[in-house]
Amino acid sequence: MKHESGSISINTENIFPIIKKWLYSEKDIFIRELVSNASDAISKLKKLDAIGEADLPEDNRFEIKVLVDKNEKTIKVIDNGLGMTEEEVKKYINQIAFSGAVDFLEKYKDKSDDGQIIGHFGLGFYSAFMVSQRVQIDTLSFQPGAVPVRWVSDGGTEFEMMDSDRTERGTTITLHLSEDGLEFTDEYKMRATLEKYFAFLPYELYLEDSAKAAEKTEEDKSKEPAENVDAAETAEPKKPEPLNDTQPLWLKNPKDCTEEEYKQFYTKVFHDFNEPLFWIHLNMDYPFNLKGILYFPKLKHEFETMEGQIKLYYNQVFVADNIKEVIPEFLLLLKGVLDCPDLPLNVSRSFLQNDGYVNKISTHITKKVADKLTSLFENERDNYNKYWDDINPFVKYGCIREEKFFDRVKDIIIYKSTKGGYTTLKDYLENNKEKHENKIFYVSNEKQQAQYIRLFNENGMEAVILSTMIDNHFMQLLESKMSGVRFNRIDADISDNMKKGDTGIAEDDVSYLEKLFKAAVNDDKLKIQVESLKNESVPAMILLSEQSRRMQEMSAMFGGMDMSHMFPKEQTLVLNSSNKLVKSVLDMKADETKKDEIKLISEHIYDLAMMSHQPLEPDAMARFIERSNELLLKLV
Ligand code: ADP
Ligand code: MG
Repeated sequence: MKHESGSISINTENIFPIIKKWLYSEKDIFIRELVSNASDAISKLKKLDAIGEADLPEDNRFEIKVLVDKNEKTIKVIDNGLGMTEEEVKKYINQIAFSGAVDFLEKYKDKSDDGQIIGHFGLGFYSAFMVSQRVQIDTLSFQPGAVPVRWVSDGGTEFEMMDSDRTERGTTITLHLSEDGLEFTDEYKMRATLEKYFAFLPYELYLEDSAKAAEKTEEDKSKEPAENVDAAETAEPKKPEPLNDTQPLWLKNPKDCTEEEYKQFYTKVFHDFNEPLFWIHLNMDYPFNLKGILYFPKLKHEFETMEGQIKLYYNQVFVADNIKEVIPEFLLLLKGVLDCPDLPLNVSRSFLQNDGYVNKISTHITKKVADKLTSLFENERDNYNKYWDDINPFVKYGCIREEKFFDRVKDIIIYKSTKGGYTTLKDYLENNKEKHENKIFYVSNEKQQAQYIRLFNENGMEAVILSTMIDNHFMQLLESKMSGVRFNRIDADISDNMKKGDTGIAEDDVSYLEKLFKAAVNDDKLKIQVESLKNESVPAMILLSEQSRRMQEMSAMFGGMDMSHMFPKEQTLVLNSSNKLVKSVLDMKADETKKDEIKLISEHIYDLAMMSHQPLEPDAMARFIERSNELLLKLV
């Protein structure tokens, strides 16, 4: 061939600073691009073969090799795909790849946000110049009678073409690295990079360290034959293993996948040795192509926040983790792989957000997840209940974030009940219709509210346990979406069911108790209510108005500003007139000599009520202990 040269029309001074800025955070992108091209070249040849336009040898085996060489400072990417003719190199490399790079720069040079383009797709072959002083292509087309071609470019603005000595079909890209790329000649670094992007590439991928291989040959040569004891071992070197799995599970038909395979795949991909709870295999070709597996992970401990990982693939090549422009944000709490070959990746993220295809993917996945949960709820209720502790943050977060998801799952949300087991909201309201007057009671802290739970149990009442961070938001969501639904914390109200009816206490006794306790507690604003409870053992309990408590919690959340003067704690001390202690206080009221005792007792009753409501403040605790000692002394 005639020795040719040419250049691309681009301002040399501009090109690299701009690309570098783009690729700075993910310098390894060039490997993804070159190996993807190698894989594309094989796919193209396979297609040609399938339609009878290529004639592959019987024993044809497709493979891609990456060779790193520290000493030579080179990386080679070798494929046995379709190769290129001279004309094709001119067209695809000189014109398309080079001008593609120019387009790319034109489009993005002014954008300052580095993360705009997903995985920086779009630069393709040209990204090789990110890390190289010189790039060389040696290629031989599969076409009969093709001549091998060499293409060389120093620096990416000018190129030369000449004959090549390549004898086998396919393409070798040789990178003569600049300082920027040297780290990738390290075998481990390269292996990690290849595993990141190509763990599921459709063709076998091998890595070789040429520098190490050369050293070994030297060593072997210098070795005395006598030293070579283990002849068998040296005679037959280990067959190299491809570093990818060419048939990822997500491509298989769900019918043909076993439970064991799903679990193994999960462990391998996410390095999570806890078994996943269950999974959803997405497998659709029409009207769009979407494959993948979503796993519901098991939380390691109760208060762990869910932290998922959704790996996005493009034709079995890894693109990025957790792209929230493509996947509904709440799904990022799951773990999974998604292969979306129709995804337009050479566009900016903000474009993707408004893309019709992306919206369809999101809607489809959301529906699949809701369907799976519904089928578990309907057909495997025991398992569903068992999973609930692990999956409820996910479901609730999904409801808060995605209206469509909420609509699909609102009826299959379950609640742990103080009666044991789980209930739906519908069943809860139905079962407690008579006793609750449509109120929903909940427990936010089982230990702290144990006393109230006991009273509920005694009176055949039921509360649901909503004790995680997300539950506050979730209750608000339900209240805003479902008419008539109102949540009350278990200590917010006292139900008629707990009362005997008439208190049997005279008006002036009530005002006596009021005065007595206000003085004992030294709080004039404390509300006092006298009730005759069915449970006679409890002298008093504290109620805290739901409304004012929520206000306070909210103000605490917004910067911890003290707004207690705006939303005073509406606490009510309920005195139980059927309790002996309360009765004795009333009996002693006329007795001047008992004044001190009455004070001690009333202070103590208040503290006890308080303690079964929330932990005492340190001061109050100190006083409580002191008073306890005093009371004990009176017994001896
Ligand atoms: P893209 O892959 O998006 O088309 P690239 O810049 O990566 O863009 O590559 C440009 C073109 O160069 C490819 O479309 C292909 O025709 C050709 N090419 C690149 N690498 C190879 C290869 N290893 N074998 C055959 N053709 C290749
Ligand atoms: Mg490409």
